Amino acid sequence: MPYDITTSRMSVGPREAWPAIRRGFANTCPHCGKGRMFGAYLKVNAVCEACGEELFHEQAHDFPPYITISIVAHVILMGIVTVEQHAEWPVWLHMTVWPLLTIVLSLALMQPIKGAVVGYQWARRMHGFGGDDDGPPGRSQREARARDRTA
Ligand SMILES: [Zn+2]
Repeated sequence: MPYDITTSRMSVGPREAWPAIRRGFANTCPHCGKGRMFGAYLKVNAVCEACGEELFHEQAHDFPPYITISIVAHVILMGIVTVEQHAEWPVWLHMTVWPLLTIVLSLALMQPIKGAVVGYQWARRMHGFGGDDDGPPGRSQREARARDRTA
């Protein structure tokens, strides 16, 4: 169903972070928890299909992969150390299990973590989630800043 983002509404009032993070982690809208956040694996829907909340303001960028790498690296490292302490695996088994587990865990965690990051951004009204213009500075804004500096 197509949405006209110029007529979608923005929620008002205080926003709690943890419910929004949980909803984002579960691939649902941080506002209503009903509509899906992702239209594709890591592509956030422009607006919530259930409540119309604007989600296109998200700017998660490299933060979800950073968190994912940090978690997966610790899990894999603990696994390797544990196996080395309690078992004697042949090299081919190490070379099969750990890379495979790294890939599977990374792919499984990336979307929920990105959802949680977007949920946090929404709750804290970061970027355009607070109703501010989140686009790059336009010509008039740049001119106004240049005027302020020279005045
Ligand atoms: Zn919603």
